[in-house]
Formats: sequence, C-alpha cells, structure tokens
Amino acid sequence: MSNQGGNYMQMLINGKSKDSDEKIEVINPFNQEIIDNVPLGSSEDVNNAIDSAYMSKSKLRDFSSRKISEALYNSARDLEKNMEQFARLISMETGKPINAAFDEVKRSIDTLKLSSEESKRIYGESIPLDAGIGGKGFMAFTLKIPLGVVGAITPFNYPLNLAVHKVGPALAAKNAVVLKPSAMAPLSALKMAEIIDSYLPDGAINTVTGRGDIIGDEIVTSEKVDKISFTGSVETGRLISQKAVMKKVTLELGGNDPLIVLKDADMEKAVEGTIRGSYLYTGQVCIAVKRLIVENSIADDFVEMLIKETKKLRIGDPLNPKTDIGPMINENAAIVVERIVSNAVVEGAELLYGGARNGNFFEPTILDHVRSDMKAVQDETFGPISPIIRVDGIDEAIKVANDTKYGLQASIFTENIHNALRAVQNIEAGSVMVNKQSTFRTDNMPFGGFKMSGMGKEGVKYAVEDMTRTKLAILNTR
Ligand code: NAD
Repeated sequence: MSNQGGNYMQMLINGKSKDSDEKIEVINPFNQEIIDNVPLGSSEDVNNAIDSAYMSKSKLRDFSSRKISEALYNSARDLEKNMEQFARLISMETGKPINAAFDEVKRSIDTLKLSSEESKRIYGESIPLDAGIGGKGFMAFTLKIPLGVVGAITPFNYPLNLAVHKVGPALAAKNAVVLKPSAMAPLSALKMAEIIDSYLPDGAINTVTGRGDIIGDEIVTSEKVDKISFTGSVETGRLISQKAVMKKVTLELGGNDPLIVLKDADMEKAVEGTIRGSYLYTGQVCIAVKRLIVENSIADDFVEMLIKETKKLRIGDPLNPKTDIGPMINENAAIVVERIVSNAVVEGAELLYGGARNGNFFEPTILDHVRSDMKAVQDETFGPISPIIRVDGIDEAIKVANDTKYGLQASIFTENIHNALRAVQNIEAGSVMVNKQSTFRTDNMPFGGFKMSGMGKEGVKYAVEDMTRTKLAILNTR
C-alpha cells in the first residue's frame, strides 16, 4: 500500500496516475502522524478527469454487460485478497476501530458483488401502445441506457463503502465516473479505484483529490456530467442541489435518528441497540442513534442499565481489536461536540456519564432530561452522545421522533405489535426498524432519507435504476 512503501497515492485520470506539486496531508487521527500526501488537484485536473470520463462513454457502451459484470466481480475478489490492508488503511485514515474497518471492507466487497450481479439485470419492458388512442398496429419496447458521466462525491466516515455505493452501480449501468473522495480520508477510495481501473477501459473511473469547493464545484456544474451522487452534510447537499442545474441528483445527507424505548420493550435488547447505535465509529455515522426517546415509567431502569454498559466501553488505539471508541476525525469535530454537550447542560440537561474531551477523543456521554427543542437533539450531533428525552407513551414518542428537520432512519423497541406498526406508519424516515437500532444497513436494501436527510435512494439495485435513462423504440407493424 502506498502509505507503507513510500509511494504516495495519486489521482487517476484517463487510466494514468496524476500528481500535483501541492499536496494535502492525510493525518492519522489517533496519533496525528502524516500517513500519506495526496495531490491538491486543480480545476484543470478535474476538467481533464471529466473529459476523460466523457471520452470513455462510447468505450464503455461497447463493453458487454458480461464483461462489466466480470470487471466488478474481479475487483471484489481483489479487494477480498487485500482485505487486511484495506481495513488497516481505513482505520488509519479515519481513526475507526479496526473491527468496524474490517466490517466496512466486507460490506464494500458485498456492494461490488451486488453491482456485478445487478449489471446483468438491467431490463426494459414492452409497452402495449394499443391501449392508447392511435396505438393499434405498433409495437414498442424500452431500453435502459446509461446516463453518461456520473460525478461521485463522498464523505470521510465510510470512505470505501460509500464510494463503492456510487462507483459500483454507475459502472454496472455502463456510466463513466469521476470520484472526489473526502480530503480527510481519501486513501482507501483511491486504492479501490486503481483496482477497478485495471479491469476497465481508460477513463471509465477517474479520481480527483482536492478542495470540495473547487473540485466538487467543477463536477457539480460541468455540462459534461449527467448525474451527481453525493453523500455528506446537509449544508453541502443544499449547495449542490442549488448548483446542479439540469442534472439528476441523489443526496444522502445527515441524520438525527431516534431510538424509542417503550415500557414493554426487551430492555437488554434496547440497551444493546443503544450502545451499538450511539457509539459505532464514535457516533460519526449518518445513521447513528442521535436521540433516545424513552417512556417515563421505565426511564430510570433504562438509564441505570445504559450507564452500566457504557462504562464497559474501551477507549483507545483504533488498531487494537479491543478498542470500542477511537478518536474523532479531528480536534475541531470533538470541540463542536464538547460545546453541544455543555450548552445542553446550561439549558437544563443532566450529564449522567462522560462529557470530557481529550484532544480529539471524546468520552461516550449520556445526557438525561433533554428537551426536544434543545440544539443537542434538533441538529445532527456527529459524536458519541446519548441524549435522553423522556416521554409519556407512544403518541408523544412519535411526535418527538418527528420533531426535527431530518428523517434518515429510526427505530423502536417494543414487544407490542400495535405500537410497532404505529411507529412504522407515522415516523417520517426512510426506514423504521423494530427491535433493531438504526445503524443497521445491508447493501442491497433501499437506503435514503426523507425531509432534509436527502433525496433519492441508494442500495445497489435502486442506485442502478437511478443511473439509467429510459429510451423508447416504436415499430410500425402495418
Ligand atoms: P461534507 O459535506 O463536509 O463533505 C462531503 C464531501 O463533499 C467531501 O468530499 C467534500 O470535499 C465535498 N464538498 C465540500 N464542499 C463542497 C462543495 N461546495 N461542492 C461539492 N462538494 C463539496 O461531509 P463530511 O463531514 O465529510 O461527512 C459527514 C456528513 O456526511 C454528516 O452530515 C453525515 O451524516 C453525512 N453522511 C450521510 C450519509 C448518508 O448515507 N445519508 C452517510 C455518511 C455520511
């Protein structure tokens, strides 16, 4: 791997590595060591990447679906062979505990395999034109054709799998791709792109590293790019949706996922779900549990069990398999969380556990008696926080769950099927889970939020559908 052998990772444009004089340091959040330098790409670089993708459209269309499928399958197999290297790289570039990094690589392999399978299932349909006035004597069928060039822009927190979720479906549908990974954690995505490139024509996959407001902006505004697939914050997503004129746009944005615990819940399951949901990758996950909505009559017991289990979490070196909580991506991110917690306390929340920051480490933190109007639960808090809002029952729980501008995923713990179904029907979120925390995701399921959490769906089959256009052929049979 580049960071271990001294060969620095570079951009990939038209099948060739591309460097630049200016660099971006990629810092290991655990020990602040520079693990690599990647190019600070320029407008010229990104436009070259877009041109090369544009030129490779016809080469990709000449590729059979069978060959595309094989290319994606072979890439998955190569990722599998290098699983440990990829997991270590993700852990070092993000500070993610190594077990979670392994999970991400396994899921990325799955996402590539799903893309390989899906590339063989892109069907049109026959259209009964004679059902319409004047349609008798005609035959018609649709073709699902590629869009052309897909611009993929990804965040730091799942640097490999979120990139694969765009690149895999785009290529499955025979689109060329320009990928801009996060400058904070670009390495695993750059490495993955090199693997895929080795099985496809030059220019089918291109990568550009650099500033979001320069590289990202060029991709979003270029007339040669047909679709933007973006995962990141609401702020950036809003900007992109304003600028991506006359393009398809998929936005996978922030979340503020609630976890409801009712009095008839299996408490052990609910506490386990809370621990997994709140503290996975230090809470820096779009579908992390960001709010706990707990029925009053069992809240004291729940809190006691939650504190007991939270105390067991081990903070430390992400490369140590025993570590549960690693560092946050940088000190600034931890300071933001520290400020949110102290403001919540000033506003009347009770700090029951944690709350301390050490550099970019932040302790798992439990806040009780939080009100739904506090900033800590109105906005997305990207950190290891469990804010508890106490409620009187299912009606109030659903009202509080919906009292936010976000709607990514949600969960409810209850043994009462009626309450479970009421939550499923009434919570405004892309997915509602019963007796499972919202961090649950498989890579084939339709995934994507409501309200400010986004627009469109990912999950390989759904992303592929959105990366094609429908063309109609009409034959006069008379
Ligand atoms: P971010 O919005 O800061 O950055 C995401 C990407 O956008 C980066 O590659 C960045 O360089 C680029 N970018 C920045 N400015 C841009 C601009 N003006 N034009 C185009 N691109 C630009 O997000 P982040 O801090 O890397 O990631 C955290 C956020 O991502 C959280 O809000 C989290 O909830 C969200 N997220 C959502 C999902 C999901 O699937 N819904 C998954 C993971 C993360």
